[in-house]
Amino acid sequence: MKRSQQAGEGEAPETQAAVLDRWMGGKTGAQKEGMEWIDPHVHILPPRRMAGLVRWVRKFTPGFPVSEEITPEEIVSALRESGIRLFFNLVFPLWEEETEELNRFNRDLCSGIPEAVPFGSLHIETPNKEKETRRCIEEYGFLGMKLHPYAQRFPAFDDDMRPMFEVLNEHRRPFLVHTGFDVFYGMYMDLQKMERVLGEYPGMQVVAVHALFPRFRLAHRLLSEYDNFWLDMTNSISCMRIYEDLKAKGDPRPPVAESLEVEDVEENYPWFRRLFEDFSHRILYGTDFPVGFGYHHALWEDLRYFGFGEAIERDLLGGAAHNLLERCGFGHLMPR
Ligand SMILES: [Zn+2]
Repeated sequence: MKRSQQAGEGEAPETQAAVLDRWMGGKTGAQKEGMEWIDPHVHILPPRRMAGLVRWVRKFTPGFPVSEEITPEEIVSALRESGIRLFFNLVFPLWEEETEELNRFNRDLCSGIPEAVPFGSLHIETPNKEKETRRCIEEYGFLGMKLHPYAQRFPAFDDDMRPMFEVLNEHRRPFLVHTGFDVFYGMYMDLQKMERVLGEYPGMQVVAVHALFPRFRLAHRLLSEYDNFWLDMTNSISCMRIYEDLKAKGDPRPPVAESLEVEDVEENYPWFRRLFEDFSHRILYGTDFPVGFGYHHALWEDLRYFGFGEAIERDLLGGAAHNLLERCGFGHLMPR
């Protein structure tokens, strides 16, 4: 734990205690209230990539206590303790050469974990994108594909990616794509291209991971215009809670405020609320576990903080994921 102690130096003790509390295991309020939580956003990666991911998160999360050596067994047992009976496992290659290996890793890993639903991935330099997508969907039996254009550093909706869209469209499968947090990543996505793709491939179910944070007004319009558009609120609910806390305290803005894009959040705030009122049946709530903003009990508290009410909470935790699975012909995966 030497590294995390160093990273935590100079932090207010109460901040560190709060971080640690979010990263302790334990049951969630959802479990206590008998709500099913399907987690559409988990990362169990090969050891070297897992260590890299944890190191990267530690850079901007002082006191982040997750070990670089965390194993798949530890992650799965934490998920089970939190009552997660189904989760999507997401991988993405940082360079072309690891693409096939990573997809095979996800196939082999998930074949031994009854709760795990694997997603495949590609790189923009993958020479035959149709072939690799078909291998993932038709041969490995994956549910869909995931891209993280900011970490992978290429445009997700580029024309080069069309062979992947074609296969997903043909099979009516989900395409999970990182969206938003542009200031944090220092990157930008061509959202007009994204909208064009939504219209051109109506069978492909596009899940905007992080819900275009903080462009909730646009997210609302896209939900109302495209039936194949979905949101995943991973990290966005927690960031909106941090925003609310900052606003309530009226403190001079801490460094975190900049990457929260406070002015844009303010402008989009009414639309954040309206998303749930109008479209909770197409809004999922993932976690980025074992990175992100904490264990499931803390992320449940972040959701409950907004007081959306039970019907919306049930949709976010499981109903919308169920709807997505049904749409793709995978309704049988739902836990009974
Ligand atoms: Zn993620």
